[in-house]
Amino acid sequence: MAKKQFKAESKRLMDLMINSIYTHKEIFLREIISNASDAIDKLAYLSLTDDSVNTKRGDLRITVTPDKEARTLTVSDNGVGMSEEELEKNLGTIARSGSLQFKQDMGEDKASAADIIGQFGVGFYSAFMVSDEVTVVTRRHGEEGAHCWKSSGADGYTVTECEKEEPGTDVVMHLKPDTDDERYSEYLETSRLQSLIKKYSDYIRHPIRMEVEDYRQKEKPEDAGEDYKPEWETVVEEKTINSMVPLWQRPRSKVKQEEYDGFYQEKFGDWQAPLATITTSSEGTVTFKALLFVPSATPYDFYTREYEKGLQLYSSGVLIMDKCADLLPDCFRFVKGVVDSPDFSLNISREMLQHDRQLKIIATALEKKIKNELVKLMKDDREKYEKFWSAFGRQLKYSITEGYGAKKELLQDLLLFTTSKEGKLASLAEYVERMGEGQEFIYYVCADTSEQAAHLPQVERIADKGWEILYLTEEVDEFVMQALREVSGKQLKSVSDPDALPETDEEKAEQEKQAQEAKPVLDFVKETLGDRVKEARVSKILKTAPVCMTADGPMSLEMEKYFSKLEGASPMGGMKAERVLELNPSSPAFGALKAALDGEDKDRAAKYVEVLYHQALLIAGLPIEDPAAYTELVCSLMN
Ligand code: ADP
Repeated sequence: MAKKQFKAESKRLMDLMINSIYTHKEIFLREIISNASDAIDKLAYLSLTDDSVNTKRGDLRITVTPDKEARTLTVSDNGVGMSEEELEKNLGTIARSGSLQFKQDMGEDKASAADIIGQFGVGFYSAFMVSDEVTVVTRRHGEEGAHCWKSSGADGYTVTECEKEEPGTDVVMHLKPDTDDERYSEYLETSRLQSLIKKYSDYIRHPIRMEVEDYRQKEKPEDAGEDYKPEWETVVEEKTINSMVPLWQRPRSKVKQEEYDGFYQEKFGDWQAPLATITTSSEGTVTFKALLFVPSATPYDFYTREYEKGLQLYSSGVLIMDKCADLLPDCFRFVKGVVDSPDFSLNISREMLQHDRQLKIIATALEKKIKNELVKLMKDDREKYEKFWSAFGRQLKYSITEGYGAKKELLQDLLLFTTSKEGKLASLAEYVERMGEGQEFIYYVCADTSEQAAHLPQVERIADKGWEILYLTEEVDEFVMQALREVSGKQLKSVSDPDALPETDEEKAEQEKQAQEAKPVLDFVKETLGDRVKEARVSKILKTAPVCMTADGPMSLEMEKYFSKLEGASPMGGMKAERVLELNPSSPAFGALKAALDGEDKDRAAKYVEVLYHQALLIAGLPIEDPAAYTELVCSLMN
């Protein structure tokens, strides 16, 4: 019989599984059991709407059968099964192959295997970590014929017709021979299997049955005499191994973190334990239980269109929707988890759910709960929170800028920014708490990196007062500032703002005087630069540096940089800020410019203006229009 080829991605994944030195091979069992459980769920769901499916809930089960002689481990279920077409589709390609973009550097090392398992939740293919041949015998519910899929690795698979008494699926795994490093035979031992089922699949809602040996006392015979000694015997009995209580129905105090971790990893295909586990429940107008998780790392597709947010929605233990988006606000779209509420009808449609009042109430409660848990995490375990922040902080910032700041109240307490204080992260509340004497505003400065921010001329005067400054290094940051405007009654202020520092009347008068004196120089600067700047003015924000570039109006220089990247792609693309060249009359450079003008050397003065203008551009991280001309200019001054 001719072998069919796997789709390219499946083949590579299969290769990876076969040669895997991934250390947690044992997880294959939970993956296969989880598929079996899903198949039973699908049948149970079908029975809600299709009268021809008359399964009794009590009959549904998963059976695990080790066979030492044949060296096989079989996982059977009486779920929906697969038709021939489904077999091809489901096992010949990776379910999520559409989103699979294999990394170029994918080798067969440990890390990448873990990576792949983590990112794609390989499911069925994990059987090949422990097996040299896998046979799937399956009969679709409602069909008479059955089919047998067989593969011993990446070179392909066969599908043949076969017989099967009951609808459902048997996955028969022929285990690899033992090696010095790996004892695959352990997956044939009932005690080992039992502990694996307990460890990873205890909460599976269908019984996982297995024959286990029990050593027990024989019944005492009726005619046993005085000197009867109890006798023992070994009996083999089929038992349900798992406790079947969904994890979210058990009180938190009775569940070990390990169990939550295993549940999360299995259900949401992550190879890392979650960063935070959140449980919540409510009884009354709406009754529900929720078990939520914050992942430890940003999912690989998180910032792509492929990523779908949502929580699994159960009604009294039956899954009614896999990714219910309306349960999660966008700002917390990284959260994974399960909500179970008896208040939903089992066959409620997606459309109806969208308008469901109960659903909205639950969503609101979850939003609040998630926020509070994150605030708590920030307080109780800062290191962990900072890990969370590096994974999902950007999402929170974007969420603040959306919808005209509708979520700012909810999210502002969760923000962290690097600040001038030891270059560490601080929350806005922490900043406000340590504000200095006489400090009115929360200061920020935008730059590409914290190092650059620290050396910008416009931070000097504020830093000299010992006041802390937020370093905004992400494009979205300044938009966050605009959306927030103020926090705890303190206005957020750019250090480049002319009103950044409070001034006394004397200072104001002094500045007025300076501006008057500098006027001829400033006029000359403006005349030389023409439309390149809106204005040249005496700076209120510089201390020692001779120049800096700032912007008037609502658009800042950082925004201009951002919009320049969008040129052609958005109507805002290429929008320019109104540039202002600020000069420091007490700097030697200004003195030199003034001297050149006073000496009527306009040529030289114009060159000085150009140099100062270009320096301001450089410091602000703005592009120089003609770098060659600028270098020539500087060299000409060295003559
Ligand atoms: P996933 O379960 O994450 O979708 P898998 O690779 O584990 O991916 O399985 C691929 C598909 O094969 C499943 O989505 C399901 O449709 C089908 N499948 C696997 N095992 C079974 C089973 N025991 N019964 C019915 N269908 C199954």
